[in-house]
Amino acid sequence: MSISPVKSVCVFCGASVGNDPAFVETARDLGARLAANDMKLIFGAGHVGMMGTVADAVLAGGGQAIGVIPGFLRERDQAHQGLTELHVVDSMHTRKRMMFDLSDAFIVLPGGLGTLEEVFEMITWRQLGRHEKPIVLINTNNYWAPFQDLVDRVVDCDFAHGEVEKYFRIAANPEAAMRILSGEY
Ligand code: AMP
Repeated sequence: MSISPVKSVCVFCGASVGNDPAFVETARDLGARLAANDMKLIFGAGHVGMMGTVADAVLAGGGQAIGVIPGFLRERDQAHQGLTELHVVDSMHTRKRMMFDLSDAFIVLPGGLGTLEEVFEMITWRQLGRHEKPIVLINTNNYWAPFQDLVDRVVDCDFAHGEVEKYFRIAANPEAAMRILSGEY
């Protein structure tokens, strides 16, 4: 039983599975842990790639999966038909806002450019003082090392304050991410 104040977690991740089974295994592990810790999944509603894997694992574990998808992406991302709730919205902007509002924290798995856009936006919203929700990147196969290097470079070159380094955490695996969300740093 979780004592974490985090009751719902937005997961950003790829609409593909990547080229190593370790990626999809991480998605499955995270989904199982979200369900076991009674944390709702908030996600982009796709039944493809890492997204679909996380959602299926949450549902298989008896958890709740809430998808938010713009109408135009319903087909491309194959909106999951078995979700606890499916919200079809008018635009990417509405989707992002709704996913943000429904979530207490963000977990980021390996993914593509869409995932990068989403995580950077949540970090920049934090930089702008719009929220203080935890943002945790799960570092399967050291996937996020170049991301950390890029942020370090931005700070080194004085394009951002060193404080931005505190706005996200990199966790080795879903277990470590759940510990961070529970307040065990
Ligand atoms: P990707 O990481 O590129 O596989 O994209 C993962 C998911 O992120 C996609 O299926 C979309 O639902 C979403 N996505 C893609 N592009 C964007 C974007 N510009 N802003 C927000 N979400 C996006």
